[in-house]
Amino acid sequence: MCRYEVYGDLYQGCGCFKKSYYSGERTDCGKADCRNSEKHTHRAPLCPCGAYAQDEKRIMNLFRFACDDCKRDEFQRRVGR
Ligand SMILES: [Zn+2]
Ligand SMILES: [Zn+2]
Ligand SMILES: [Zn+2]
Repeated sequence: MCRYEVYGDLYQGCGCFKKSYYSGERTDCGKADCRNSEKHTHRAPLCPCGAYAQDEKRIMNLFRFACDDCKRDEFQRRVGR
């Protein structure tokens, strides 16, 4: 499974990781059955391999509170909607 380096902010209050941007850095898994890998050998456009990719999270900012989305959800729960 190849990994793509992504920068973002981590909100500890809710555990969300908000992606900011992908740096373009990639760690190739080197597997022949991974479409994203340079070692992928098949030339057929519809080979059965999956395009496995995983985010390599790089935390730019660490916040102790919850992110805006979760805060809004929490607020709406409280007002009973
Ligand atoms: Zn891979
Ligand atoms: Zn393949
Ligand atoms: Zn959140």
